[in-house]
Amino acid sequence: MSTLTESVYHSLVAGVPTEGTAGTTQATDPAKNQQTGPKFTLLGKGQAEVAAQSAAEAFLEYRKLDPQKRAAFLAAAADKIQAAGEEIIATAMTETGLPQMRLQGELARTVNQLRLFAKVVLQGDHHGVRIEPALSDRKPLPRPDLRQRTLPLGPVVVFGASNFPLAFSVAGGDTASALAAGCPVVFKAHNAHPGTSQIVGQAITEAVIELGLPGGVFSLVYGRGTDVGQKLVADPRIKAVGFTGSRGGGLALMQTAATRPEPIPVYAEMSSVNPIFLLPSAVAGDNPVLAEGFVTSLTGSAGQLCTAPGLLFVPEGTSGDSFVNAVRTHLSAAAGVTMLTPGICSSRVKGEQKLADIPGVTEVGRGSEGKTEHAPAPSVYSTDVKVFVTTPELSEEIFGSVCLVVRYSSVEELEEVATAIEGQLTATLHLDPRDSKDTQTASTLLELLELKAGRLLINGWPTGVDVGDAVVHGGPFPATSDGRSTSVGTLSIGRFLRPVVYQNAPEALQPAAVQDANPWSLTRRVDGQYAVAQKGE
Ligand code: NAP
Repeated sequence: MSTLTESVYHSLVAGVPTEGTAGTTQATDPAKNQQTGPKFTLLGKGQAEVAAQSAAEAFLEYRKLDPQKRAAFLAAAADKIQAAGEEIIATAMTETGLPQMRLQGELARTVNQLRLFAKVVLQGDHHGVRIEPALSDRKPLPRPDLRQRTLPLGPVVVFGASNFPLAFSVAGGDTASALAAGCPVVFKAHNAHPGTSQIVGQAITEAVIELGLPGGVFSLVYGRGTDVGQKLVADPRIKAVGFTGSRGGGLALMQTAATRPEPIPVYAEMSSVNPIFLLPSAVAGDNPVLAEGFVTSLTGSAGQLCTAPGLLFVPEGTSGDSFVNAVRTHLSAAAGVTMLTPGICSSRVKGEQKLADIPGVTEVGRGSEGKTEHAPAPSVYSTDVKVFVTTPELSEEIFGSVCLVVRYSSVEELEEVATAIEGQLTATLHLDPRDSKDTQTASTLLELLELKAGRLLINGWPTGVDVGDAVVHGGPFPATSDGRSTSVGTLSIGRFLRPVVYQNAPEALQPAAVQDANPWSLTRRVDGQYAVAQKGE
């Protein structure tokens, strides 16, 4: 694994370093507010075509790859990224200002995610096989032999987010799930962490070479989103898009994808304020850990998490007042930490100012500013439900450690809010489950909130997402562009697959996944029953 010793690096188009013709970019060390590391040449619009063409050519072979080999590729990519871990973390720390421990956790999540998808490929549930053997005697009409499985969509363009330079970036969940599905990936590098992207991109490229796969299975392109990114999404050879980032960016890509002659799906994870509802029993009596837990969740990673709590509903009255006072106390001990980029810091500061200027909104408390230029103090503001429901701006995400406490006077007000809010990645309820009144309220709210959010938490905090089979990191618009999907966990592979059925195909023409002999030992739905594959079947 090479280190970033050169003064300039290029896109890796189908594994080939390709000098861009549209200028250069360089990372900014947000803690020092100065440019750092090598330069990276940016591809021009015309150059993006080569990545799309290579991906389309690679698809023809890659989609048919034996599951063992595809799994081995994902595992090899994980091994190579892990082997470069020290350099990846050092580079990402400089480029993002994120602390070492956070990045170590993210690196582990990234490699484990690739290994998890290697297992998914071997297990084969994603083939979704359903077989209905022919019923020649069925009246009034015979049933044909029907054998269904899924197929990969084709080349996918992935855009990563600034706030997860590993787990939602070059080798992140979108890339891992698309590659596992059998789709080549063209990754548009985020300009905030180009060096981190280069090292991870080189690792994946080495895995492509080691497994003898066509180079177009993976490309890393540097370029401006608004030209190269848009050009790729508009390219007829691209068949789907994965995106994590701002609502504006996601909407722009959805628009491009929808207005192509052949529209394609965009799986964009965009914007969520992750409301938390504290029911009266949660704040009754002495509950010292509740305010502390909230402040920890709010201030972690400088609030630059898609699941950070942006709205907190607290009952009016003395118990609610005590809780808010405890929040003020804990917050006063919290210091700001360096944000990812000067631009994100500036948006966050402007967002807070806009919030503070809204009539009916008052400041609850704030922490202290951090030592660097881009480390604003975490802060909490307050209003009531009447102001909240009549002021749409109060539902907008502020990316950073800023939360709005909304005081409510009745359960009916909470129901009104739960009915009115936009789609969310998460919604959280806090209550004492021994309190029957609150349990009843929670039950009513859950029925409303399950229509609004992808993940519903009871007595927890939304930050921190487990990666596995059962997780959902998604939700109705604007949390994501397609609430039927998740961008984290094994179910995310489904975004890049489509079903196809073979009718009356003789055995010689049936793909392996649907043959009676079940050569891949898949668990399949056969004639209405799940047929669980036995070992060695
Ligand atoms: P971003 O600005 O949306 O950028 C994400 C990626 O999409 C970048 O590679 C960017 O390329 C590209 N892109 C953005 N707009 C585009 C467009 N109109 N056409 C084509 N490509 C486009 O997100 P970010 O840099 O990660 O963060 C910026 C803001 O997004 C934050 O301030 C925050 O409000 C929000 N955010 C939300 C979440 C979340 O999960 N909810 C996560 C991260 C960020 P270029 O940089 O080259 O334009």
